[in-house]
Amino acid sequence: MPASPRAVRHLALAACVGLPVLAQAQDFDKLIDARLPAVMPKVVAWRRDIHEHPELSFEEVRTAALVAAHLKSLGLEVTTGVGRTGVVGVLRGGKPGPVVALRADMDALPVTEQVDLPFRSRAKARWQGQDVGVMHACGHDNHVAILMGAAEVLAGLRAQVPGTVKFIFQPAEEGLGGAKAMVTDGALAAPTPSAIFGLHVWPNRVGTIAVKPGPFMAAAGNFHIVVKGRQTHGSSPWKGVDPIVVASQIVLGLQTIASRQVDVTYQPSVITIGAINGGNRSNIIPDSVVMQGTLRTFDDGMRADIAARIRRTAEDIARAGGATAIVTVDEGGLVTANDTSLTERMLPTLRRAAPAGVGAIPPVTGSEDFPVFTRDLPGIFFFLGVTPKDRDPLTAPANHSPLFFADEGALETGVRAMSALALDYLRNPLPPRKPGTAGG
Ligand SMILES: [Zn+2]
Ligand SMILES: [Zn+2]
Repeated sequence: MPASPRAVRHLALAACVGLPVLAQAQDFDKLIDARLPAVMPKVVAWRRDIHEHPELSFEEVRTAALVAAHLKSLGLEVTTGVGRTGVVGVLRGGKPGPVVALRADMDALPVTEQVDLPFRSRAKARWQGQDVGVMHACGHDNHVAILMGAAEVLAGLRAQVPGTVKFIFQPAEEGLGGAKAMVTDGALAAPTPSAIFGLHVWPNRVGTIAVKPGPFMAAAGNFHIVVKGRQTHGSSPWKGVDPIVVASQIVLGLQTIASRQVDVTYQPSVITIGAINGGNRSNIIPDSVVMQGTLRTFDDGMRADIAARIRRTAEDIARAGGATAIVTVDEGGLVTANDTSLTERMLPTLRRAAPAGVGAIPPVTGSEDFPVFTRDLPGIFFFLGVTPKDRDPLTAPANHSPLFFADEGALETGVRAMSALALDYLRNPLPPRKPGTAGG
């Protein structure tokens, strides 16, 4: 469809207004690029060091010490122990302006690394009563090194920085509530940022950036079902109530919620039962069965609706079999949604930062706790491609795999993007908005 004359006038006006802004942005780009050759070898070294010494959630003591020492050496105001092992650094620029935050998560996973690297992790730890290997299988080592690099770039430009940059190094992103712990401890308190940016390494072509306005990563919520029957001998089930058969029916019944009961054209949803425990012998019907599951949704109303359906389905199937089901559905996490107007505003910055290209991303049923930071301020969370050129991102081992591998060629794009987002936003911020009016 051809653009209307009015739309053409609007575009022409935007182009005229945009010219001086763009020139300034490109000036910032030159300043950033001039610092990268000195900073990038350090970023690569930090990333390898952190990769070789991964730490589980809320145990990021060594990583936090490395970060804090670096930020202090740059002359930033540094607070440690924010949200237990988190670190916050504040860089006050030489020119007046707003406050912007950049966030990196620091924790690793109970995964034994199988990638053959000179800096492969050999770390071990205790996790839920078991001895486990520890690996940066989600790539947070890259996030920490990139943000340390951006801090060095921006500290080197302090005199030209038009405002304040807050660096948030978060612990325990992997399901243990590190973002919430940091916010509770005042990570967003004075100086309070008016926008926040974060990134995640992802199986896409190395150095590319993928970003999407609006909701794109699911809210994750766990649920727990205890099916109570009545114990009896396996040879005479009619003398008791078999919770294993009832639990099996509940598993199948729950699958009809996403496939038969909610509007599949509105937003996707996933219900998975990941653990079933009950019984310990072939010929004894146990008293009860315990099930654990996860629910992924992209809309708060849909999440509440599905939670009610999970409860009803489990309770009523149990009742039909003469058993009872006790259902607990966690409040759950938040949907990761990029503020629409902020994404539009910062897209040119991301395009300039990523010569390999910027693309869109489809919704991801994985989840993040970044949206804890964006409850009261706009933010953008984007994916940085780390799949080597000779591999297919569709078949490359994904995040959390013991074979997950991040190509270091993406680090420079990450440092450039985070530095440029901070500078461009400070120069051209969004107008303030009322708390609680989340965008996207
Ligand atoms: Zn992860
Ligand atoms: Zn992650």
